[in-house]
Amino acid sequence: MSATANVKKTSGKSMRNVKRENRSLLLTQLYFQGRKSRTSLARELRLTPASITQTIGSMIREGIVVETDAYASDAGMGRRQQFIDLNHADLHAIGVTITNDRVRLCISNLRFDCVYEDSWRLESQDAESYADFFCDKIAFGMLASRLRKDDIVGIGVTVRGNVDSEHGVSENSFGLLPEHSAIKAELEGRIGIPVAVDNHIRSLMTCEALSSRSYMENSLLIKYGPGIGSAIALDGEIYSGGHSMAGEIGHMIMDRDGEVCRCGKRGCLETIASFRAMRARIRRGDCDSLATLLRRFEEGDPEVAAAVAASIRHLALAIANMAVLFDPKDIILYGEPFGSGIFLGEFTREVGARASELQGLLRVSSRNLLLDRHMACALAVHAFLEAGDIADLGKPSLPRVPPAE
Ligand SMILES: [Zn+2]
Repeated sequence: MSATANVKKTSGKSMRNVKRENRSLLLTQLYFQGRKSRTSLARELRLTPASITQTIGSMIREGIVVETDAYASDAGMGRRQQFIDLNHADLHAIGVTITNDRVRLCISNLRFDCVYEDSWRLESQDAESYADFFCDKIAFGMLASRLRKDDIVGIGVTVRGNVDSEHGVSENSFGLLPEHSAIKAELEGRIGIPVAVDNHIRSLMTCEALSSRSYMENSLLIKYGPGIGSAIALDGEIYSGGHSMAGEIGHMIMDRDGEVCRCGKRGCLETIASFRAMRARIRRGDCDSLATLLRRFEEGDPEVAAAVAASIRHLALAIANMAVLFDPKDIILYGEPFGSGIFLGEFTREVGARASELQGLLRVSSRNLLLDRHMACALAVHAFLEAGDIADLGKPSLPRVPPAE
């Protein structure tokens, strides 16, 4: 499991772990709550003034945190204290997102302002040598944005399908990369920067937590359109299950005699409520994209309305069942359909009709449709906050840079 930046206990750990944990707590606190005085940090993290001074001192020397120009007016010590903050000016994260046959590279600061972007087609013949190719692109991006290895907190890689996030292995990306691709080991070995890997839905949840600056303790995230997926946070950690398959709501069986799904089972929610399933119910051939279908729905096209209503009924039922198992504090909705007020109204009513107590828990992501761009960088930032420092992997600094065109 990977923690979604929650405050953790430090009891029962070795001294080295406690030190690491203190650094992680301090970085997390600054990231989520902004600049703070040493006194406030010591009080909030329950550390002695000596320990906080020592921890901050070493982090300033490493360039991870900085003393800002601003002062806390009342730090409780009778004198003004300089605020400490993350080194937002210098620290950056690298994100690599692999969707369908495209790869997107984004280098951004810790607030997800992008300073460099690139994208390219993932040709199937290049899939075997993806690591060399990715590292060349990353090295070129760092050079173009004048960033050194020490400025990078980490690399996040987001890929569809079944990902073992603990070991950074893409087990099955449904034809994008070879099966069992050890992305973390392959990239770290070449570039010497820590790498975090996860699938799209869990990356979205990490990104939602970081970009909304909200702790996620017990939450569900539902991603709808064109397919259906979900991610689960339990006690502040993203739960991926025994086989990295937890939260596969799209493959919850809704009709035991239903259509065969691409996963091989019958009657999965995907076969009933995905965009593909809705389109199959509509005879008119002009609903070739989800955006068109939603527009027809908003215009009140009766055939489209019936197809969407059937999907909403099944989706609401699946979410109500999932909520019984996980008892979430909130249910975050992400995806194109939730941007439609009429769709959201019907969906909320339907969830309320299944389980009225859930209606108040639903909320659309404050950055609906905007997280895709930053979710890979968010993985890297999250791993950095967890680690408490920029790991020096002791590898050669950078791979060869391709010649400029
Ligand atoms: Zn299925």
